[in-house]
Amino acid sequence: MYVIDNKMKRACKRCNKHQLFEVPNFNATQKKELLTSKVHSPLKTVKMLMESYKLSHADSKFIVLHINTNYGQCNRCNYKDLDSEYTDCPKCKALNFNWKID
Ligand SMILES: [Zn+2]
Ligand SMILES: [Zn+2]
Repeated sequence: MYVIDNKMKRACKRCNKHQLFEVPNFNATQKKELLTSKVHSPLKTVKMLMESYKLSHADSKFIVLHINTNYGQCNRCNYKDLDSEYTDCPKCKALNFNWKID
């Protein structure tokens, strides 16, 4: 189990800007693990977040939905120039985690 001492509340302007979700401050290893897992199976990744991180189903789903699998590229539209983490797409307003993983 992971110890998460620093959580952030995040919202997506595209989905529902008034609803906040708990997003742990994942470290680089965890980000890599989650990204790889999402590519393989989004459903399993939701379960993994619930089990390993003790997050709610809603928070876990929110996280998996907003991890963009290609750095810089928006999850929802074809915008390709996202340049920071946890950023709103300038084109469609969707939140992208846009984790920089080497
Ligand atoms: Zn969204
Ligand atoms: Zn977009």
